[in-house]
Amino acid sequence: MDVDLILINGNIYTVDEKRPRAEAIGVKKDRVVFVGANADAKKLAREETRVVDLGGKTVVPGLTDSHCHIFGIGEREITLNLEGTNTREDFLTKVKERVVQTGHGKWITGRGWIETFWKSPRFPTRHDLDEIAPGSPVLLTRADGHAAIANSAALGIAKIDKNTPNPFGGEILKDKATGEPNGMLLDNAQDLVAKHIPKPTEAERQQAFLLGIQREIGLGWCEIQNAGSYAGDIKIIRRCFDEAKVKLRFINAVFGPGEDAERFLREGPTTNAYDHRFTQRTIKVIFDGALGSRGAALLKPYNDAPETSGFLTERESDLKPMFEEALRRGIQVETHAIGDRANRLILNLYEQAFNAVLPEQRKIREPRWRIEHAQILDPADVLRFAKLAVIPSMQPSHAISDLFFAPSRLGMERLAGAYAWQSLIKSGCIIAGGSDAPVERGEPMIEFYAAVARKSVKGFSAEGWHSEQAVSREQALKMFTLWPAYAAFEENDKGSIEPGKLADFTVLSNDIMKIPEPEILKTPCVMTIIGGEIEFEDRGFY
Ligand SMILES: [Zn+2]
Repeated sequence: MDVDLILINGNIYTVDEKRPRAEAIGVKKDRVVFVGANADAKKLAREETRVVDLGGKTVVPGLTDSHCHIFGIGEREITLNLEGTNTREDFLTKVKERVVQTGHGKWITGRGWIETFWKSPRFPTRHDLDEIAPGSPVLLTRADGHAAIANSAALGIAKIDKNTPNPFGGEILKDKATGEPNGMLLDNAQDLVAKHIPKPTEAERQQAFLLGIQREIGLGWCEIQNAGSYAGDIKIIRRCFDEAKVKLRFINAVFGPGEDAERFLREGPTTNAYDHRFTQRTIKVIFDGALGSRGAALLKPYNDAPETSGFLTERESDLKPMFEEALRRGIQVETHAIGDRANRLILNLYEQAFNAVLPEQRKIREPRWRIEHAQILDPADVLRFAKLAVIPSMQPSHAISDLFFAPSRLGMERLAGAYAWQSLIKSGCIIAGGSDAPVERGEPMIEFYAAVARKSVKGFSAEGWHSEQAVSREQALKMFTLWPAYAAFEENDKGSIEPGKLADFTVLSNDIMKIPEPEILKTPCVMTIIGGEIEFEDRGFY
């Protein structure tokens, strides 16, 4: 047997039931050809074979982030990054610095703030920003991407005042006393201001994309599933692949409904292009808002804002024909649904589509449609996922971020069906695990830790956090390897380390299947191998 690369002295978790553990892997071109003991692997070496001694480091199948936004990840590196601002003052200081750097009158944009951890966890207002940026328009997106704060200059450019009606699927928050907008814009209302910001050039957009890709590989991701893009960005993505600038495996979704999705339905999917690196077979729908900004569509009003139950961001009548066409064309659908109402309605819509287009009328009989987030489920709906073979695509870090404020938004009772990983798995589901970066940080070990510990990164947990919904380490590993592969129709090529599959591995500094939970967070990726090529290596460990 010819081999190009041999990894020896590894602490290997294969996620292959037939041979769960191994010491060595042999690779020929981009595929695994051998998994087993060191002694047997060494016999395969010839003069030109590269042999890498892993020195006991832990190897898992190449990790996949099943839900993230690659341009946002790259842009976070370029624009004002407001992650980790712990107080309102800290937040305002960072913005002020940027205003000084940028100069008078120019747009200030940024992302990543979240008020939940501030001393008084209230949204910032336009007036807070007016004090530090009186002459420059400012629009700063909340970490979850479902809300933004604008200052008076930005609202003025967009001509938003007390008389401006809410757009469909969005809300302009107004001061209760004066009726004037307070600067907070939820979901679709953000566009009213955002559309006035000069668009980044194609070159800047490409720079963000490639920065994002590099960051992902360095973190140990071998594949990402990009949760939605428009035609302009798809052009950039494809050009970067044409120019062989992307080594990361990339599963893309196209936003729908709308023109882009219609064209995609006509043209059909692209699968395994560029040596199994690029697949586009999915339409992404956003069906409601987020919990933090109270945009998630709930069956009953918010506990801490009884005047609202959130809202849907698409009309059911627009989705129906698209869903049926997608089944006929072999296109997968994934829908963002956070609130229990949004989840129930989308399950209904999926079910209606499955009944309207029978398996023999579909291009792919088993559609593997997904619900992204599936965060708050009415107990009656939990079992419907497995019954309809709908895949929940969930982000463990959301639970450990949101559970600080979810009890006040939802009340204790509704938390029983919140982030209900174990209930879903027990009902017969697989879960595609992701990070939703840049909503969250997007680091694999934060996600793995959140899934198994279900505690904050500081080890905090409280009443209502439902620790029984945490998953085992074996389940967590599948959430980021084999299950995302299945959720992308790729379980024959990816998701485990076994002969015949693609040679994608993530090498970690510690044994994440055994070390105490807090140490998982201190476990960096030391090597990322994609298709048998070492694409990232932290030489400090060798
Ligand atoms: Zn997302």
